[in-house]
Parts: sequence; C-alpha cells; structure tokens
Amino acid sequence: MNATVSKSLWADTVAFANIARPQLSQNIEVDVAIVGAGFTGLWTAYYLKKSAPNLSVAVIDANHVGFGASGRNGGWCSALFPASFNKLAKLFGADQAKRMHSAMVGNIAEIARVIELENIDCDWSHGGTVIAARNRVQLDRARDEVKEHSANGLPADDLEFLTAPELSSHANFADALGGTYTPHCATINPARLVQGLARVVENLGVQIYENSRVSQITEHTVITDNSRVKTKFVVRATEGYSPTIKQSRRAVVPVYSLMIATEPLSEEFWHQTGLAQRQTFSDFRNLVIYGQRTADNRIAFGGRGAPYHFGSAITPQNDLVPDVHSLLEKTLLELFPAVAGAQITHAWGGALGIARDWMASCGLDTKSGIAWAGGYVGDGVSTSNLAGRTLADLICGQSSDLTTLPWVNHQSRNWEVEPFRWLGINSALVAVKHADAVEAKRERPSKVSALLGRLIGE
Ligand SMILES: Cc1cc2nc3c(=O)[nH]c(=O)nc-3n(C[C@H](O)[C@H](O)[C@H](O)COP(=O)(O)OP(=O)(O)OC[C@H]3O[C@@H](n4cnc5c(N)ncnc54)[C@H](O)[C@@H]3O)c2cc1C
Repeated sequence: MNATVSKSLWADTVAFANIARPQLSQNIEVDVAIVGAGFTGLWTAYYLKKSAPNLSVAVIDANHVGFGASGRNGGWCSALFPASFNKLAKLFGADQAKRMHSAMVGNIAEIARVIELENIDCDWSHGGTVIAARNRVQLDRARDEVKEHSANGLPADDLEFLTAPELSSHANFADALGGTYTPHCATINPARLVQGLARVVENLGVQIYENSRVSQITEHTVITDNSRVKTKFVVRATEGYSPTIKQSRRAVVPVYSLMIATEPLSEEFWHQTGLAQRQTFSDFRNLVIYGQRTADNRIAFGGRGAPYHFGSAITPQNDLVPDVHSLLEKTLLELFPAVAGAQITHAWGGALGIARDWMASCGLDTKSGIAWAGGYVGDGVSTSNLAGRTLADLICGQSSDLTTLPWVNHQSRNWEVEPFRWLGINSALVAVKHADAVEAKRERPSKVSALLGRLIGE
C-alpha cells in the first residue's frame, strides 16, 4: 500500500475548504432547521424550497458540507434499498414492496433531472451495475437472485442473468463464471454532487452554517455548542453520526466502509477490462465490495470489513485501517489482475448508519416537529433523494404517493447497550468473512451465511 493521502479521492476534486460559511453563534428562529449538510439534509432543503419558497430553512453542520458519507462514498447512485424485497413484503405486503421498488428505480431519473436542471457537474454516467459470480456458490446466488426477482413479479429488464461470455461484454473479471446486470445505477463523483446541491439550495435562500455542532434535538428546538434554534420543524439528517446527538445515541450504529483509488489507468488496461459505460461493479461474495471506473479512468474501490468501534466511536483515525485497505488492494487485484503495479493514490473511509432492524426509514413526529431520515446502510446516495422529497411533503403537510411508502414513519428499536453492541456486530463481521472463505474453498454455501441472512431478515 503506497497511498499518500487519507482524504477521499473526491475531496481532491472539490474545494470544500475554500467556501467560507458562517458558524452558528447566536440564537435564531426558522421554520425548518436541518441538522447535517449531506445528501439527506440538502435534498430535504432543496425540495422544501421548491415546494414552499417562503419557508425559512437553515442547515447546520458540525463540520462542513459533504464532510460525512456523502462526500466520501463509492458513488453508486443505485436503486438498491437496504431491506430486500422479501423483507419488505413480509413486513408490509407485496404491493408495498413493489411500490418501494418502483420509487427506488424512480430516484435515478429524478436525480438525473435535477442535476441537469440545476447544472450540477458530478461526472454522472448511467451505465448500470455488473456483478460477477466468481465461484459456484456465487453463481448459484446470482441465479437465485434473478429467479426470485422474476417470481416476485418485478420487471425482467430490471435484473438480467449473464453467462460468462455475456458478462465479459461488460467487464473481464478474473475467474468469472457468470453474473448479473441491472441498468438501474449511475456512477457519480459524490463530492461534486453534494457541493453542487449546497450551491443550489443557497441560491434558493437556504442558510448553511458550518462548524456548528448540534448536541441536542428536542421539541421544536436545536441546541448547538453556542446557540439555540427555535423552529417549527427539525430534521435529523446526521445518518451514521446520529449517536453524537443526545436523543439519538442508539438509533443507528456507525459502521465504517473503507475505500482506495488507483492512479488513472492506461487505455490498454481499459481495453482489456471493459466497463466502457462506467458500469459500477461488484461480485457475489457475502462481504460487501463495490467499485467504479471514475471519469478520469481510475478505479475507486471499497468494501466493508472494518471493525465496529466500541461505544459507536467516530474518529478520523477510524478512516484508515491498514489491514482492511491492504485487503481491498488484494481483492481488486484478484478481480482485475491487470491492475498489478498501478499506484494506489488514495485510501480513506467513512461511517454509514445501520438501524437495529436494518431497515432505512424517514418520518415526522408532527407533535414534536422532529423529522428524521437514515439507516441507509450503504445505499444512501439515491435513497436520500427519496427521503428529501418525502420529508418535504410531510413537513408541508401534503399527502402524496411518497408519504404512504412503507418506510415512512417506520421505527426501529434502539441498538443494545455496550458491550453487547460491540460483541454482536464484530462477531457478525468475523462470521461474514469466514463464510466467504469457506464458500471460496468448498464450493457450497456456508451455514453461517444462511444464518446471517436470517438474522438480518433477508
Ligand atoms: C465509504 C463509503 C462508501 C459508500 N458508498 C455508497 C455508494 O456507493 N452508494 C450508496 O448509495 N451509498 C454509499 N454509502 C452510503 C452513503 O454515502 C450514505 O448513506 C449517504 O451519503 C448518507 O447521507 P446523509 O446526508 O444522510 O449523511 P452524511 O453524508 O453522513 O452527512 C451527515 C452530516 O452530519 C454532520 N454531523 C454529524 N454530527 C453532527 C452534529 N452533532 N451536529 C451537526 N452536524 C453533524 C456531518 O458533518 C455530516 O456532514 C457509502 C458510505 C461510505 C462511508
């Protein structure tokens, strides 16, 4: 590993630090106070101002616009929702699961519409996602996923099974036996999107405060280190960082996802590898991995696997875990051996939020005026857009197709107190890694992976 910097590749492409925004240092009164200037907070601000231009809206961030996962992620703007279709169908019925699926697919067109309308340059490429099956167990998993998709009555062109030659028309993965393709994903530079959104909402009259840490969110009130905000509505848009606020210490756990980026790769490499439409890519192992070909022809590649930190700790040191970053480099080399010798120029990480029941949600308590969205696991890039549109409707008191989606006002129970939380999450992580090792060797699904699937209700 020869990475030289620990900030994200994307942060190098935008000038977050050059835009000076005020700190909130006095008491204010606004119609809506949004805590967190990532995708959730900014999409909510955007749709609120579009719906009700006269509302006064303030966004308050402990750090800066895009500091959190929104400025550091893998850039998959996908239709993936953290709870599977079957889980949604079990909880809310098949019709509601189908509505959720269509809403997620619709996010991609909606985000494309806004970035064009608002002239946001974020390296958007709508190339879909290709996932390789690289052993027999993974191949069965790919087949099962497509069969299940069709048995659930979802559109056939949403998810296609690929034979090995078909897969190679998208990308040449080493040891590929087949895979799947979905058109429902675009690749983005997330920092450019989050920064572009901030500019757009500021032009609509939203005030963004930076370096203003919120310690408490209570009825119609936000308390920062230096001030108090009186408001009709508060939106908690702090996702993985929610444990830093007194009232939401155990609402989600911050789990780290880590990434690396290569230097720009040669034309020869891309000729051999494919991904001509900048399709996002992964494989069918249990532990989540994800990659994209960037607009400047690098690979940005990430995965879970970093340990959960006791007490839901979030620190800059947690962004770099040399063992996990080295494993990412090794895994990338396994997928595309031709990457050997390429310099790894960036290594970084960030915290994402997981609710106790692994179900993302958004909602509004009309009595306290407190709204929230999050628990997206690793699928928040497009889900946060749906959250923003939905929260705007809820706050404006408009009932719509969005406000009756099954994730709206869903409440997950709190996570366990420590040390049970630490023990549970890290044991599950060890088990997932073990399951992949077993499957790669024995060519049959690990009992552990089946058990884990049941535990998270898949
Ligand atoms: C490495 C990585 C890769 C990922 N890859 C993908 C992907 O490819 N596709 C995908 O869909 N999802 C991905 N995700 C998840 C996705 O990035 C997030 O779900 C999404 O960005 C969440 O947006 P958000 O606005 O809700 O939260 P965030 O972007 O995390 O924003 C929260 C904001 O709250 C601020 N804040 C924190 N505490 C306080 C406080 N006390 N007071 C005030 N402000 C506070 C933070 O500074 C931050 O700006 C990834 C996440 C990570 C970490």
